[in-house]
Amino acid sequence: ESDRVFIPFGYNIFVAFWAGHYAAEKIGCEVVPGGVLDTRARILKMKELKCTAFMATPTYTLGMAETAKQMGIDPKDLGIKRITCAGEPGASIPATKRRMEEAWGCPVYDHIGATEIGAWGYECTFQEGVHVNEAFFLVEVEDLMTGEVTEEPGREGKMVVTALDRLAKPCIRFDSKDVIRWAERDCSCGRTFRLLDGGVLGRTDDITKVKGVLLAPTAIEEVVRGIPELGDEYEVVVSKRGDLDDILLKVEIKPGCEGKEKEVLERLQQELRLKTNLGYRIEVHPYGSLPRYQVKAKRFKDLRRKGG
Ligand SMILES: [Zn+2]
Repeated sequence: ESDRVFIPFGYNIFVAFWAGHYAAEKIGCEVVPGGVLDTRARILKMKELKCTAFMATPTYTLGMAETAKQMGIDPKDLGIKRITCAGEPGASIPATKRRMEEAWGCPVYDHIGATEIGAWGYECTFQEGVHVNEAFFLVEVEDLMTGEVTEEPGREGKMVVTALDRLAKPCIRFDSKDVIRWAERDCSCGRTFRLLDGGVLGRTDDITKVKGVLLAPTAIEEVVRGIPELGDEYEVVVSKRGDLDDILLKVEIKPGCEGKEKEVLERLQQELRLKTNLGYRIEVHPYGSLPRYQVKAKRFKDLRRKGG
């Protein structure tokens, strides 16, 4: 009936996975902590113990699928029925969510929180957006430019959150730096907790001005992972060339798709321009050579910030 939940991280004093661990037990699941193992051993452990669910970052969810395939195991055959993702926006970025769901053959649910305030949002099984847990959190959206609080659905702003149940450390109007927007509709599940359209759309400290245009790294991810011939990993480096901003995008082409490189790169360049209004220098790196991350990825590097 209930799930056997694998947690593929050592959580030490990291509060998020402890919360996940105890919450899973509270609803009757059995939890398997996989912290001391490496990725290959974790996959074998999930298989051996017939785990039916796991929680991880989107980066690691894709990384484990890739490692499983290298081991000759189709992740879909492991019997995972649901995955909860947290720590990065990926589970609400449509192209990334699709890649994870296709790789594992099961739904992937987004779950959002911050160490300072706790887990304030989750996706229900209807997957129509992220519910704000309004029983415990008061979420306000502030206009990015004026700071004015807006309730208007569809309008992007910065999330300011008050935790209503914190006793040890009150958190009143905490500036989460997350960019969100209220959905126009209620969720079909019947809960009245309001929905956010697309989860966390970006971070105010990630959204940066490049060549005079506001750029959100999540937009680049949506384009890269929407092109099936490209690998999961990518890296963006913004720097100065003389007086001009330069954006370098590093991608990998999936094995077997090398012959289509020219058309894939043309499509990538076109879709990036459409989605972000910017031009990129694109570099193709050998498959498997870009950095792989275990917890939170650092794929966006702005060298201008270091005075470079
Ligand atoms: Zn719902």
